[in-house]
Formats: sequence, C-alpha cells, structure tokens
Amino acid sequence: MGNVTRDISNDFYTETLVIGGGFGGTYALHKFRQAGIPVKLVEAGIDFGGVWQWNRYPGARVDSEFPFYQLSIPEVYKTFNFKERFPSDVELRQYFQHMDKILNLKKDAIFNTIVEGVTWDGQWTCKTKDDRIITCKYLVLCTGSSYKKNFPPFRGLEKFSGTLIHSAGFPEAGIDASGKRVAVIGNGATGVQIIQELAKEDCSLTAYIRTPIIALPMQQRSVTTQEQESLKSFYNVLLKAARVSKTGFPYNSPAKTFSKTSDEEREALFEDLWGRGGFSFFLSNFLDFVVDKKVNECIYNFWAKKTRARVQDPVKRDIVAPLKQEHLFGVKRPSLEQNYYEAIDRPNVELVNLKKTPILEFTEEGIVSEELRKFDIIVLATGYDAMTGSLMDLQIKDKEGRPLQEKWKGGVETYLGLMVEGMPNMFMVYSPQAPTALSNGPSIIETQVDWIIDAIQKMKTEDIVMIEPQHRFAVQWGKDIQDMNAKTLYPLENSWYMGANIPGKVREQLMYIGGADAYSAAIHNALDGWKGFDLRRHEI
Ligand code: NAP
Repeated sequence: MGNVTRDISNDFYTETLVIGGGFGGTYALHKFRQAGIPVKLVEAGIDFGGVWQWNRYPGARVDSEFPFYQLSIPEVYKTFNFKERFPSDVELRQYFQHMDKILNLKKDAIFNTIVEGVTWDGQWTCKTKDDRIITCKYLVLCTGSSYKKNFPPFRGLEKFSGTLIHSAGFPEAGIDASGKRVAVIGNGATGVQIIQELAKEDCSLTAYIRTPIIALPMQQRSVTTQEQESLKSFYNVLLKAARVSKTGFPYNSPAKTFSKTSDEEREALFEDLWGRGGFSFFLSNFLDFVVDKKVNECIYNFWAKKTRARVQDPVKRDIVAPLKQEHLFGVKRPSLEQNYYEAIDRPNVELVNLKKTPILEFTEEGIVSEELRKFDIIVLATGYDAMTGSLMDLQIKDKEGRPLQEKWKGGVETYLGLMVEGMPNMFMVYSPQAPTALSNGPSIIETQVDWIIDAIQKMKTEDIVMIEPQHRFAVQWGKDIQDMNAKTLYPLENSWYMGANIPGKVREQLMYIGGADAYSAAIHNALDGWKGFDLRRHEI
C-alpha cells in the first residue's frame, strides 16, 4: 500500500474534551466554560439532546416530572417554560435548542462525530471515525447509559423483508402505521409508550411480552406558563433539594415504617400516592421494598388490584398484571403509563406471552413463536447494552495499552463511578457504579460534573498534572456496591441494572445503590485529601 496522507487540518488540541452532548455533555460544557477551563465537545448525533435526539418513537416522553428534569442553570430555566408535567421528546429537543441559544454552546461543539479509538501517551488522543485527531489533557465521557442499541440474537432477524426498526432509530418523520400489521417486541419503559400510542391508530398491533412491566399512572397534565413563572423564585431551592435527595427527586417518605403501619394506614397511603401520579407510588413509598419481600408483595398486590380492574380481557389481564406476584416491584425499572392498560384491551391489539410461547425465529414475512404472524413493521423496543456499551464503543486503552473491554471482562471496575485505574485524568458522567439510573438524570449529572470541575480546580491549585485511582480503592468501591447489592432483592430480577439483558454480560449491580445523597458525600470525602488517588505533580 502506498502512503496515504492524513488531512491534519481538522486535528486540534483542547485542554478538555467532552464526548457526548446530552444532559451530561451540555452541562459539562457550560460548567467548564464558566470555570475558565478551555473545552470542546464532540457528539455523534446531529445536535444536542443525547437520548432525546435518538428517541423519536411514537409517544416518547420522559418519566421524570417537571420541574426536576432540567438543569439548574438560572439563565436557562428563567427563559424556558415546559408545556407538560412529563415533557415529550419534541419538547425536550426544544429545551436543548433553547439552552444552546442562551448559552451559545454550539460555538464549542462538533456534531456527527463518533470517537472510536482513545489512547494515552501523557495526554489523551481521540481518533474519530472521520479520521480527525483530537488531543486533550482532561477527557470527560458523557456518553450516556442508553446509547448502544440491543438487537437480541433472534434467529433469522436479517431475513425479515418489512420495516425493522429499533426504538432509538425512528426517522424524524416517524412511520405511518395506518392500515399496517405492526409488532412491538419489548415491554420496558419504551415498549409501553410505543404500544399505548400505536394502539390508538388504525393498525393491527401485536405486542410480544416476556416480562410484563409494572407501570404506574403518569397523571399527565398541562403546566401553564403562569404556574411555572410563579414557581421560578423557588427553582434554586427545589433543584437543590433534588440534588441532595436519595433519588434526585425530593419526594417525601411515609411518616411511619412499614412494620409500624396498620393495613388501613397502608391502604390509605397507597391510595394517596397512586392519586398523585408519576413516581410517587414508587419513590414516596416504603423504600424497604428493595430489601424486604413482604413489603414488596404488599405494594405489588395493591398495584395488581388497581391495574387488573382496568383490563377487561381476562387473558390479557393475566399476562400484564398477574394476580400472584411473579415479578418484584421496583427492582426492575417501573414505568409511567397513560391509558396503557386500556390500550392493550382494544380489539386491534393482540398480546403474545413469550414466557409460554417464546420467539423461535424471524422469517421474511414475520415472527414465529407458536405460529407465524405476518407483519409490515416490527419495532424492537429491546433496550440497550446499558451503562457500559457506550464506553466500550469508544475503544479506550489505558496507559499500558489495555483496552477497557479487557479490563472489565470480569466486571466493571471504577473508583467512585467517576474514574478508572490506569486511565489518568479521564472522568465519566452518568456512569456505572454511580447512582445513575436510580436517580433523576440531571441531578446526578450535576453532582458528578461539579465534582469533576472541583477536582480539576484542586489539581490546578496544588500544581498536580495527573490524577488516577489506586487499584485497592477501585476494587473496594466495586466490592462495597456488590456487597450492598447482595443484601437487596436486585439480584433476583433480570434487569439491565444487573447487566442481565445482554447475553454474556457479567451479572453484577451496575449502579451505586446507596442513594445519590450518600454517593455525593462519598465522592466529596474522597476528594478531600485525594483519598484513593495517585497524583503526579509538576516537576520543579
Ligand atoms: P429495557 O428496559 O431494557 O426493556 C427491553 C424490553 O425488551 C424488555 O421488556 C425485555 O424483556 C425485552 N427483550 C429484550 N430482549 C428480548 C428477547 N430476546 N426476547 C423478548 N423480549 C426481549 O429497554 P427500554 O424499554 O428501551 O428502556 C431502557 C431504559 O431507558 C429504561 O429503563 C429507562 O431508564 C429509559 N427510558 C426512559 C423512558 C422514560 O423516561 N419515559 C422511556 C424509555 C426508556 P425482559 O424484561 O424479559 O428482559
């Protein structure tokens, strides 16, 4: 092969490179600029928004309620109003556009740029798919939990000749389901939203359900500009309260513990929380549902009673809300629904119970479980190689040249859910071994990004050029999480929290489960005195 000369005109050095332009990346870009630390951002998609750029499926919206699903940047929240308690994907993209307009974020961002190759030689070198080289001193990975799509290894998947689409791959214009035979595989937060939306259309819909989701009434409503304007004087307090809470939502807790309440008191509490909608029934409930099967069953039974009353078809009722608890409440992510249970009851909707009749194969015409069903469109709402997939795809090697894939072959190992041994000055946001999916997104992202800025400012003040976690501390961080996890009910369900949704992935708790409040205390405690870090100072 002859010498191919690389075009180096697009290469550049920046003190900080942020990868990813969702909530984590945009907040990091803003805060680094505010701190006076030079920064650039690269993003794979066409604009800011992260998951809200990729997720354009019918009915996409967030399960985190207003006003908490936004960043605590006053100049942004003072000048933006949402329309709904649970904003849609469209509204969330508008929010990101607004944030960009107010903060002029695009000035420092490059889109349509995928990083695939990251190496260390005293600084980080990031190679992009379009052959650009970006070098930096600090690398901040904001690649999100839900980037790498999960295509289950269904036999014959490639044979299907109709439209096959992953939930994160819908075109901007959407799809026309009218008059079509549509299948949806998957019953997580995404599947529920797609099914309840498509069921209303003039289509014949088949939902393939393996584990029925435990969905709670969203109680969606419009929020007026007047309501928001009158609340804005308190946003700083509300958003701060979210950050210092256990879950990133400042929900209150029951006045008494489960064991100290009577059946009547519990019923009254459950009714109260049910009526509030959103995650109240989940996160304002007795949180010992995570550790105590009796508590879990009691909450499940209330949910099943309420839910079963909404489904008239007895076969469908038993599939989506079995009377006897088959799945634990709240240790696999519950979801919010808007008339989902009425939607699946419609005559144009068929449910296939995959526990009884698993998918055998795909054919050119459709899906074979116990029989062949023919489709025009098949939607895979089958989730993601969550938490680690996006990081692995970056193809990062540590300072010894060891790929992250190899380092994490036996399980994830981070320190504080923020850094990895052998990968100096590299920080992760919305990351494994942090509260991440167990917290409201923007709240935990702010905690982590602010910590990273504090760490870098401290490095600068103390003339430190390089920080890196010590092996012993990283091992202990992971061990503490798994030990804590072993005392809970999380290991008993096949969830993506446990890496259980991807064949061959190590089964382990991927989240810090001690609460966002305890997490924040732990990471700040480590920063004080650089506990668990190796430091390199400027040579004098
Ligand atoms: P998910 O929670 O991983 O759900 C995937 C679904 O696909 C599950 O029902 C799973 O069944 C099914 N599935 C996977 N492989 C299968 C196979 N081989 N055969 C049959 N079924 C299979 O993915 P998701 O619904 O996209 O949600 C991912 C996360 O994104 C959520 O947990 C949430 O954090 C976030 N999200 C949030 C919102 C929101 O805020 N409104 C909306 C969408 C997504 P099993 O459960 O039996 O494995």
